[in-house]
Amino acid sequence: MCPYYAYTFSCGHTQTVFATWCAKAQISQRRCNTRTSSATISATLKFEEKCPDCLSMGGSLTVGPGQRR
Ligand SMILES: [Zn+2]
Ligand SMILES: [Zn+2]
Repeated sequence: MCPYYAYTFSCGHTQTVFATWCAKAQISQRRCNTRTSSATISATLKFEEKCPDCLSMGGSLTVGPGQRR
């Protein structure tokens, strides 16, 4: 199975992000299934932000896209 990173956000959501190809995937050029709980998590990274899903839904975003100080 290809290793994935688990991103943990301050909103409590977790995203699994593709990390690298495993030997099997390199040959077939196809990633192993991302959406299974059996995905190998190689590292867990913590973010002090909300996940992209929550950000796109609005919320209390202080600095939005195209909005600079
Ligand atoms: Zn794989
Ligand atoms: Zn979220």
